[in-house]
Amino acid sequence: MKSILHISTECYPAAKAGGMGDVLGALPQYLPVHGFSASVILPKYKNAWFESHSFAKVYSGEFAMDNEKIQFSIEILNNSDLPFPFYAVRIPGLFDRPQIYLNEDGVAFNDEVKRNIAFQTSIVHWLVNDDVSFDGLHCHDHMTGLIPFFTKHTKAYSSLSELPVFFTIHNGQYRGYIEWADLALLPVFDKDKKGILDWDDKIHSLATAIKCAWKVNTVSPSYMKELLNDFDNLTPLVLNEQRKCSGIINGIDIDIWDPESDKYLDAHLENKNWKAFKGKHKTDLLKKFNLKSRRPLISFIGRFAYEKGADLLSGAIEKVLESNSNVSFIILGSGDKRIELAIENLALKYKREVASIIAYDEKLARKIYAGSDFLIMPSRFEPCGLNQMYSMRYATVPVVRSTGGLIDTVPDISNGGNGISFENAEEEDIVHAIGRSIDLYANKNAFYNLRNYISKLDYSWGSSAFKYAQLYKNFIN
Ligand code: ADP
Repeated sequence: MKSILHISTECYPAAKAGGMGDVLGALPQYLPVHGFSASVILPKYKNAWFESHSFAKVYSGEFAMDNEKIQFSIEILNNSDLPFPFYAVRIPGLFDRPQIYLNEDGVAFNDEVKRNIAFQTSIVHWLVNDDVSFDGLHCHDHMTGLIPFFTKHTKAYSSLSELPVFFTIHNGQYRGYIEWADLALLPVFDKDKKGILDWDDKIHSLATAIKCAWKVNTVSPSYMKELLNDFDNLTPLVLNEQRKCSGIINGIDIDIWDPESDKYLDAHLENKNWKAFKGKHKTDLLKKFNLKSRRPLISFIGRFAYEKGADLLSGAIEKVLESNSNVSFIILGSGDKRIELAIENLALKYKREVASIIAYDEKLARKIYAGSDFLIMPSRFEPCGLNQMYSMRYATVPVVRSTGGLIDTVPDISNGGNGISFENAEEEDIVHAIGRSIDLYANKNAFYNLRNYISKLDYSWGSSAFKYAQLYKNFIN
């Protein structure tokens, strides 16, 4: 069987900040049936998961970064807690912190550039100097975007130049800029290749990856179309590299996200009795947050970020509630402090209609997927989006702005689809979509039929893993 090494900064359950973590925790499990074994390598963070698992050192190395010597070790997870080989790069002083990207104040670490370069260099250093080999590397987002350059154009790692490197864009907003003044942090490379690193007058990790990777994909076909149409100043680059670009929709891990066995839930789906399952969890939620019952429950789960349209929620919900609509809301998320404040104020004003939980809470998220009637996603852009697929798996109707992966997974019910979709990330459209949700909920037959229908849809990794395998096969035989 051919082997792929996935290189990432997130992998559920070791470390997750969003959907990319879910993808890395799931995709490797679904590749072996298509002829590829997959391993994952992450930085070794000092969070609860890493602290409670034991690792064995497989390699120690050292390389120069500017005037400093960076010492690192590669370690492999000892037990079979994960269904694939799992490696961690231990770099003392750089990753031995609990958080992945942001410090406790929610601000990006100020040594982010150094961390990312050290992580990537450690991996190529290991691959070249240890008795280890993979048939392909698969890099994820800008934090690993320099690897396809390192394998092609650096002296020390040139033995990797024939190794296919695949690159997935999970979120094109984050670019991984490095000032030219920090050039010495990179391993020595052919100076005539300097231009490859350059975009926007900076060393540009994402642009470099798009230029150097053998194949580039986004996590949904519609998101790739959007980037080809408008990826701000990267548009000419993706257009130029279009031949090697594609979109593959993410799947979800249907074993972990299973209403019949979800370990986070205290009551499970039995005999496909959705009424009982959803009723129990909805009642629990309404009680827990002291919300009014006998009305639809619409929830939001996600990062409070501009891209998620979370800033539009408070205004839209207020408009809905001012018009005396019978509906309750639960909002779970954290991020932008102004959005947090707006949501908290809304919950204070409408105590029996709106609950706000400013947190990252996996257990509560599962409960909300299980007990809500609708899940709203007013995203400005959404490379794939997993929440809508999780919500359907738990028979919760998605209400989405049609963008990126939401276009590919949630066609509107007016076209025989599986949810409610709206055109613009604007308050007015959100208010209208909530109105449609309330109407649908009132039409019990249609609502229960839709709920039944979406719970049976297959968003598992099967077909997407096959597409990744096809992509690898073009270069690895
Ligand atoms: P992104 O990666 O852009 O944040 P995705 O939709 O791809 O968005 O993935 C979001 C993932 O993070 C889902 O698994 C979702 O349930 C989870 N999630 C987001 N915010 C929270 C939160 N506050 N508490 C628990 N889970 C959350």
